[in-house]
Amino acid sequence: MRAIRRFTVRTVLPSELASLSELVHNLRWSWHPETLDLFSEVDPETWERVGHDPVALLGAVEPERLRELAADRRFLRRLADAADDLREYMTAPRWYQSLPDAARAIAYFSPEYGIAAALPQYSGGLGILAGDHLKAASDLGVPVLAVGLLYRHGYFTQSLSPEGWQLEHYPSLDPGGLPLTLLKEEDGTPVKIAIGLPEHRTLHAQVWVLQVGRVPLLLLDSDVAENDPAARDVTDRLYGGGTDHRLKQELLLGIGGVRAIRAYCRITGHAEPEVFHTNEGHAGFLGLERIRELTEARLSFDEALEAVRAGTVFTTHTPVPAGIDRFPSEMIARQFGGENAWPTVPVDRILALGAEEEPGKFNMAAMGMRLAQRVNGVSELHGEVSREMFQRLWPGFDVDEVPIGSITNGVHAPTWVGREIMELAGRELPSLVEKAQGWEGVSKISDEEIWSIRGKLRARLVTAARERLRRSWLDRGASRAELGWIDDALDPEVLTIGFARRVPSYKRLTLMLNDPVRLRGLLLDPDKPVQIVIAGKAHPADEGGKKLIQQIVKFADQESVRHRIVFLPDYDMALGQLMVQGCDVWMNNPLRPLEACGTSGMKAALNGGLNLSIRDGWWDEWYDGTNGWAIPTADGVADPDRRDELESAALYDLVDHEVADRFYDRQGDGLPRRWLEMVRHTLTSLGPKVLAGRMLRDYVVNLYVPAAESARTLQSGTYEQAKTFASWKLRVTRAWPGVRVEHVEASGLGDTPEVGARLELRTTIALGELESGDVQVQVAYGRVGAHDELLSPAYATLSLENRGDDGRAVFGGTLPLESTGAFGYTVRVVPRHSLMASSAELGLVAVPEEPAGMTNGTLR
Ligand SMILES: *Cc1c(COP(=O)(O)O)cnc(C)c1O
Repeated sequence: MRAIRRFTVRTVLPSELASLSELVHNLRWSWHPETLDLFSEVDPETWERVGHDPVALLGAVEPERLRELAADRRFLRRLADAADDLREYMTAPRWYQSLPDAARAIAYFSPEYGIAAALPQYSGGLGILAGDHLKAASDLGVPVLAVGLLYRHGYFTQSLSPEGWQLEHYPSLDPGGLPLTLLKEEDGTPVKIAIGLPEHRTLHAQVWVLQVGRVPLLLLDSDVAENDPAARDVTDRLYGGGTDHRLKQELLLGIGGVRAIRAYCRITGHAEPEVFHTNEGHAGFLGLERIRELTEARLSFDEALEAVRAGTVFTTHTPVPAGIDRFPSEMIARQFGGENAWPTVPVDRILALGAEEEPGKFNMAAMGMRLAQRVNGVSELHGEVSREMFQRLWPGFDVDEVPIGSITNGVHAPTWVGREIMELAGRELPSLVEKAQGWEGVSKISDEEIWSIRGKLRARLVTAARERLRRSWLDRGASRAELGWIDDALDPEVLTIGFARRVPSYKRLTLMLNDPVRLRGLLLDPDKPVQIVIAGKAHPADEGGKKLIQQIVKFADQESVRHRIVFLPDYDMALGQLMVQGCDVWMNNPLRPLEACGTSGMKAALNGGLNLSIRDGWWDEWYDGTNGWAIPTADGVADPDRRDELESAALYDLVDHEVADRFYDRQGDGLPRRWLEMVRHTLTSLGPKVLAGRMLRDYVVNLYVPAAESARTLQSGTYEQAKTFASWKLRVTRAWPGVRVEHVEASGLGDTPEVGARLELRTTIALGELESGDVQVQVAYGRVGAHDELLSPAYATLSLENRGDDGRAVFGGTLPLESTGAFGYTVRVVPRHSLMASSAELGLVAVPEEPAGMTNGTLR
């Protein structure tokens, strides 16, 4: 029989143990080993049984044991120390508190969060990144207030059928069994959020608060009595259901999220956010809700749009067009039009925000970019690819001027790095993680010590992998008697390669199977064998991905190789931690350039693992020739099979002749000195860069602080600047067709221009109805290609020389000619306003009508 409802009855802790509850309810435990030790000490056996889930621990431990602990002076002292430590962590000034005038609070919106394995509210990289973002913000004292959804069935857990087919199970999560607190009004009634739906229906939600160190995470939950059954299920699963379901989730996240923040700040006195960070398109409706607030406070739509954009940061996460979140426009029109329309927010303005090249589609990334004055990708290469992908939103501008920057992702060391390594680092080099400094000090640590820790981490992985393998085989219907071989599956002394990730096709899980004979040869090499540990989940609707998993499983099932290659089901944070810590080599072979960043390789690097990867995402940026290996990419080859063949052959060669050779090249003392040299170089060259703390500092300095400044300026007083800026934009946009470059003349070169000469330029611009101060006249100059195209031009500003009565103005200036060779220039006019964040912001530019304005010459 199945229960129709479930809930969790919490233990009543003896008063002496009250602070245990405080520790459990702050997720800081997930990256604080001392607190985890304390939990384990409550009842070591139960702690293992509940999979290191502290709430489950308190639910399962016998009252007798709690009474015993309440009288245990040594335990009470440790408990008091841990609680003190947490209080001091929560309140002491940290890095952010040293910044003058920084944002009082930053709202961070994400559809998923990977914080701890015990909270399965994530599916992959996006969620893990969001979790690491919050933890690093907490460590640095960045006042982030985060918003997400509470999925009652989270993301699925994975097992395998006897045939190696992925099976999905959705855990049933009860908020009472999670370290959550319901957000309540002062009189104790739960806060309720309501969002209007078409046909006079309403979507209701309550709000749970999860404390992640110093960062509160508000999770909206639609499973409330006020909702009809369909509405109750809106937050049932992460990335489950069809388009309509997804739209409701995103309405709840974006609109409901802003309302939850307002309630939270009103009730707790928390500062109102000055900056809103949209982590990927799903949360984009937050900008509409803020526009609604401001238009109801009497700003026009355009004024509100400016005020909102100024304080909004949008991060795009995928270079895969199919990965962009889109809706049929009529769904959006139905939601925001008709009887459900917001009186002050016209539906056609909303539709225009999400318009894209395909009519009838509403594009959440496009809306994200139009609603945010600052936009970034997640690695340099991804920034480049995104500028190309979204160039059409800024017509008339070259790709490299598209205002999308990049901040390369990072990972939260205390979450991902093996304890032995953290302790070693803490002992020898305390500034490593906190300040991202001192990594050159890694050279002081002896080869013996590094190798011994690497061995421990590898052995721990092997032991855990055997356990997981046994469980998986039992699930698949094997009997214990047939599983004796698992005692010797994998070898703690053998070179261990890890490969774990979600299984979309671009990640090419099965590239390693391209030549099975070659792979078998590597695994079974008598002198320098390799073993491979694989994990990954396919999206439940992705049959193709499940086939790839099945292929890997079938290969790994073969008796001849099953001791050297294993697929471990249910890739989650716990398995991820084991793997990135225990593997010697972290392999990644995406189709370049489809991996936006990738972070698992960063986790491996911090643990002293070496990366073996296609140069994509972060690896394209930071591979330096000796801190790992680059698998050559055949990204010019159009035939995908041929490309796989070339890249897999290169992969086998690398493993065979470089990786394995180096790993097994031992000195008399058994140490692989050349390998360890590379490990050390990996740590010193990558360590400071891959930290989430570095990433957070970049976000704060490059995006949050400028966004807060812009937002303050626009909002000051009664939003005068927002009003001025909006009306200026309208005026300039309307008058722009009258702006023309009429004439360009150059002098000062003579017949044979020589390096060092000065080019004098003068240009006549028709301004139409604009003032000369509304525009900036720029000269773009530099080397030119075969078709007169400027190759990565530099820009200089020309100054106003005189302004006629006829709407014309003359601008001029000089250019130094600094390099020899083919040189060219052109002039252009762009709008100018101190509140613009980039010249391309309005998407307006005027260039000479014919390239006649451009003069080419060759410098000697
Ligand atoms: C780190 C991590 C990811 C993201 O890794 P990628 O390299 O971006 O694929 C996904 N899932 C889990 C469980 C992780 O730990």
